[in-house]
Amino acid sequence: MLGSRLFANRSLTARLTLLLSVGMLFFLLFFSIFIYINNYRLMYRHEQQLLNDKTKSIYHAITDDLKGKRSVRLSDINQIFANHVDKHQSIQLVDTADRIVIAVDGGNWRQHGTAQPDLLSVNSESFSLPGFSTPVHVRILEDTRERLDPYFRIQLATLLPASGVILLTSTVSIHALTRVGLKPLTRFIEHIHSMNEVHQFNPIPAYTRAKEIEELIAAFNTLLERVEEAITKQNQFIADASHEFRTPLTIIKGYIRLLHRWGKDNAEVREEALTAIEHECARLFRLIDDLLALAKLQNASSHVMKRETQSLVPLLKEVNQAWSTVFPPGLTLTVEWEEPLVAAIDREKIRQLLDIVLDNARKYTKQGLVAVTAHAAGEWIHLKVRDTGIGIPRDKLPHIFERFYRVERSRNRGQGGSGLGLAIARSIVSAHGGKIEIAAAPQGGTEVRIKLPRSLQTAQPVPAPSSAGTEP
Ligand code: ADP
Repeated sequence: MLGSRLFANRSLTARLTLLLSVGMLFFLLFFSIFIYINNYRLMYRHEQQLLNDKTKSIYHAITDDLKGKRSVRLSDINQIFANHVDKHQSIQLVDTADRIVIAVDGGNWRQHGTAQPDLLSVNSESFSLPGFSTPVHVRILEDTRERLDPYFRIQLATLLPASGVILLTSTVSIHALTRVGLKPLTRFIEHIHSMNEVHQFNPIPAYTRAKEIEELIAAFNTLLERVEEAITKQNQFIADASHEFRTPLTIIKGYIRLLHRWGKDNAEVREEALTAIEHECARLFRLIDDLLALAKLQNASSHVMKRETQSLVPLLKEVNQAWSTVFPPGLTLTVEWEEPLVAAIDREKIRQLLDIVLDNARKYTKQGLVAVTAHAAGEWIHLKVRDTGIGIPRDKLPHIFERFYRVERSRNRGQGGSGLGLAIARSIVSAHGGKIEIAAAPQGGTEVRIKLPRSLQTAQPVPAPSSAGTEP
């Protein structure tokens, strides 16, 4: 919540500077705490060592003094203690019942409870003292806080300003370095702005060696190319579609004019005009249906297809029956297959595909044979539709799947073709993850080869291009 408010509307440089500075702040904080604790431990240990040494030397001074004596004067021990005591210390002679026999306090010593954490307490070995029934030992108590505090105050006084200065200089450096580091990105944005100003899709030159930006430029240029291509195709499509709509509409308009002039009196003209208008209307509807089908298929992904694993044999029988009756005399249709012929297909769509291909075979073959064959090989179903018709010139083949493409425009329009059939066919095959290609049949005529995956897993659906040339 706080983070998002802090970062809202800030530049990438500001965000990075802020993030890295906060990181630096935490680092300095932990570093200072570590140094402080570590130094404290070292000093404490050192102090303990000093006290140990001092207890030992007091112990030796007393025991040396005692050698050969039957009794001892406490004032002598008092003197030894007084020679060794420091400001924040108390040196005591303690018996086994923890009773203090003698205590000599330093000038700044204040009485403390023994449980106080800052109180350092060190004991010497026990020794016998003439006149005392139990052994005694020397104990030194030291108020470490009072003793070590000045050192820590110095340490804090050094660490805090040093951390502040480091934080400040590192923030300034981070800001400057981030700006330098992000320069390629800034240039990238400038290029896009300049592109917007001139309304042109110029590819961005490779002006940097920064790997990520290089990749970004490459990806952006590829995207740019695709956008440009899509826009060109879209414009072409609009022009083609307008042209296709315009022709029947012009004819209809012509006949309406004819009706206005002659239709009221001349029944023959009226009849001719109405038939022609009806025919052109039917053509317009067909065109709209084809366009809608194509649009749906091109946006279709695999889940729009209702693919079910089934045998293609019933479908082939159905197609054979339906088209045999439509074929004119002199044109024979044969449908042959090898079983098993099972594949995951959308039955409706494959029927539509076969209808398109067979309709073309019928339209462009006056007489002879149209042969449909189907067999399975490995993971694929191979469908072939071969005709003995007029064929397609080799140089036209690369365009055959383009929307509205017709080999000979005027003649084909006469046959009712809109040039959308093969584009729809290819979209259906692509949505199944298959392939379609058209070639010249070896004995003349045309051969359409379709490859469909048998299982859903074999091939992922390939998005159908909005327009393209011949399949490989
Ligand atoms: P259409 O509706 O015009 O038939 P298609 O996209 O189905 O549109 O076909 C595009 C063009 O390819 C056709 O106009 C025709 O010139 C050519 N074509 C398609 N199939 C055949 C075929 N079997 N024999 C000859 N030419 C064909």
